[in-house]
Amino acid sequence: MALSNKFSRRTFIRTGSLGIGALALCPALSSLASSKADRKLGIALVGLGNYSYGQLAPALQHTQNCYLAGIVTGTPAKAVEWSKRYNIPEKNIYNYQNFDEIAHNPDIDIVYVVLPVSMHKEYTIRTARAGKHVICEKPMALNARDCEDMIAACKKADRLLSIGYRLHFEPHTIEAMRLGQQHIFGKVTHLDTGNGFTYRGDPNAWRLKKAMAGGGGLMDMGIYSIQGTRYTLGQEPIAVKATQEKTRPDFFKEVDETIFWELEFPGGFKTTGKSSYNHDWSYLKVEEEHGKFELGPAFGYGGIDGSVNGKQMPFPQIIQQAAQMDDFAQCVRQNKVSRVPGEEGLKDMKVVDAIYKSLDSGKWERIG
Ligand code: NAD
Repeated sequence: MALSNKFSRRTFIRTGSLGIGALALCPALSSLASSKADRKLGIALVGLGNYSYGQLAPALQHTQNCYLAGIVTGTPAKAVEWSKRYNIPEKNIYNYQNFDEIAHNPDIDIVYVVLPVSMHKEYTIRTARAGKHVICEKPMALNARDCEDMIAACKKADRLLSIGYRLHFEPHTIEAMRLGQQHIFGKVTHLDTGNGFTYRGDPNAWRLKKAMAGGGGLMDMGIYSIQGTRYTLGQEPIAVKATQEKTRPDFFKEVDETIFWELEFPGGFKTTGKSSYNHDWSYLKVEEEHGKFELGPAFGYGGIDGSVNGKQMPFPQIIQQAAQMDDFAQCVRQNKVSRVPGEEGLKDMKVVDAIYKSLDSGKWERIG
């Protein structure tokens, strides 16, 4: 099936206008709690880089349960620009030094951490200690141990923690979860997935520094392939064997370029996956005993497509980030654990840690 050239013709719908079918896919959106249901919850974005600027702030113009109430930035010029563009009052603008004062600001209910990976742990923990709920971007942290510390800090502060896994709110993805987890065409017999892009950006960017990014294509893109495998099967892998390829060692001095892996699941079933900063991949292909389905593009936010037994899936495109943030705001209102809590980020990071271990040892490594 041709997967390209469709998105220009397809309508992106706002979460506010989701139909009954889509509401069934996002049950948390369908019932409002009484306590805070009458007001939108305030979100503060920490880190006003590409993702905040290009995706999250625009998505927050389409949310029903939350709004862009505040910002945290180290760049005064950005504070001025954002304040004008989004009508953010001075009292809701923070920098990295006075960030903890956010504890006293009743306008801010949720802090969304959109920083380089090495800063996720610190700002998640500071947010929880300030008494605010947290959304933390992917990959959750540099390693699984840091994820555990973040989860513990949020539990101790009695605050909810969610990871920016927007695809759990995306209709094609939700359908792939249903087809895989419910064995609609029998047992899964084959699963292959890959995610990557050809990195041509700034050679000095934090994404290429191990201390700030934790790794390269695996941390940034491979996390989606790992997620895709786990949410399609609804099972946790127990072991992994990985190999890597580096065609531009001068560019990727500190971090991985392309990694290939096999995951083993209980009972011995194996899947294949890969990540890259040197190939444009975004797919998830699954075969079951009596049918098959695939997603492609599978992981971006420019439009997801998919097919079941060769027939295109009939779902609309949504603003994934708006659906994700609205759902978390609703979880906060209802004091309900998100469908993508910190534990979900931790499970992926356990796989990532084992992949790096396998690259070092050249052997199969246990996960967790
Ligand atoms: P970016 O480099 O564009 O932005 C990072 C921001 O952090 C900048 O505003 C920068 O000023 C700020 N910052 C503060 N201290 C810094 C420091 N010491 N060094 C560097 N920057 C510093 O990055 P991005 O693309 O916006 O990514 C931010 C996070 O969002 C990452 O965790 C990334 O994986 C995630 N992300 C998620 C998605 C998604 O689809 N869920 C997409 C893109 C990025």
